[in-house]
Amino acid sequence: MSIAEDYVKIRNEIPENVVIVIAAKTRTMKEIEEVIDAGATDIGENYVQEAEKIYKGLSPEKAKQVKWHMIGPLQKNKINKALGTFDVIQTIDSFEIARAIDKRVSTHGVVLHPAEAGRVWEIVPVYIEVNIAGEKTKSGIAQERVLELIELMSGLENIKVEGLMTMEPYSENPEDARPYFKKMKELFEKAKEIKMPNVDIKILSMGMSNSYKVAIEEGSNMVRVGTAIFGPRN
Ligand SMILES: *Cc1c(COP(=O)(O)O)cnc(C)c1O
Repeated sequence: MSIAEDYVKIRNEIPENVVIVIAAKTRTMKEIEEVIDAGATDIGENYVQEAEKIYKGLSPEKAKQVKWHMIGPLQKNKINKALGTFDVIQTIDSFEIARAIDKRVSTHGVVLHPAEAGRVWEIVPVYIEVNIAGEKTKSGIAQERVLELIELMSGLENIKVEGLMTMEPYSENPEDARPYFKKMKELFEKAKEIKMPNVDIKILSMGMSNSYKVAIEEGSNMVRVGTAIFGPRN
C-alpha cells in the first residue's frame, strides 16, 4: 500500500478523538508531502535541523496546514530554532529546560519563523515526557516527579503544560506495553485534576506503530506513528 493509503487506513480504524502524529524522522520531503496531502494533521520530528529543513522545503501553505511536534530531546542551545519551527514541544523532562524556553519567549517574544517571519509566540504549548519504565537509556522524568514538575512549571507564564508523553520500552509484543500505558493513564488522570495557572492537561501522547492499538485501549488520545505509515526505516 502507498503512504497515503496506509495513513487513511489507520485514520479510519481508530477513534476520531485520537490525534495521529506522523513520526517523520529520516523521511524525505516527498514522503512527508504525500502524507500531508492524504490528510495528516500533525507531524512529529526528532531533530530541530531536520524539521527546519523539511519545513522550509515545503510550500508555506502546506507547512502551515499541519501542526509540528518536537518529539525528540531538546537541547538548550536549540531552543531558538525549535521555537521557529514547532507548534508543540512534547519532550520537556526538567524544570531547567522548561524555564529556558519560558525565558526565551519572555525576552524575545517574537521568533523568526521560516514561513511566517515575525510570528509571535505568546504561549508555547508543551507536554511532559515521562520515563514510565525507569529505563536508564531513555529521556523523560521519573513518574514520581511528574506532579511536582507540573506545579513548578505553573509558575512559568510563557508556556502552558497541556499533556503527558511517553515512549514505552521497546518490545516486539505490544501487550508488554500495556502495564506501562495503564500507569500513564493513572498519572494522566491525576494531572488532569491539577487546577493551577498555565496548566491545562488534556493530551496523553503514547503508542507507536506496533503499540498504538493497545495504547488507545488504555486511554491514549494521541499516537505517534512512523513505520506503520512509511514502512521500515533504513
Ligand atoms: C520514531 C518515533 C516514533 C514512531 O516510531 P514507529 O515505530 O516508527 O512508529 C514515536 N515516537 C517517537 C518519540 C519516535 O522517536
